[in-house]
Amino acid sequence: MHEYFIVQNILKITEELMKKYPGKKIVKVVLLIGRYSGVEPDLLKSALEFFKKESPLEEAEILIEIEDFKIRCKDCKKDFSKEKWDLSCPFCDSFNTEVISGEKILLKTLELMDAN
Ligand SMILES: [Zn+2]
Repeated sequence: MHEYFIVQNILKITEELMKKYPGKKIVKVVLLIGRYSGVEPDLLKSALEFFKKESPLEEAEILIEIEDFKIRCKDCKKDFSKEKWDLSCPFCDSFNTEVISGEKILLKTLELMDAN
């Protein structure tokens, strides 16, 4: 399952990060999930809740935000968002476009506080 590997990655990243902050713990984490990342937000969240035991995220509140699918037209330089996977520019009909957000999963925020 796709989500399982993402969870392992998130846990690995937070473990690495927390080495720089000894004596702190994570109280809140916000994940930004692209609408076209191929990840099911609910599945990812329940997988994280399940696997976070004995990880730096054990006591963290997990929040998920959905990032819209955004495209930039290289011809008319406009940005636009689309509900579906359609890369044509609605302003000039160009296909000379690039995806600028909505494909990835990002660790947006980590809130830390002193452990104990
Ligand atoms: Zn355009």
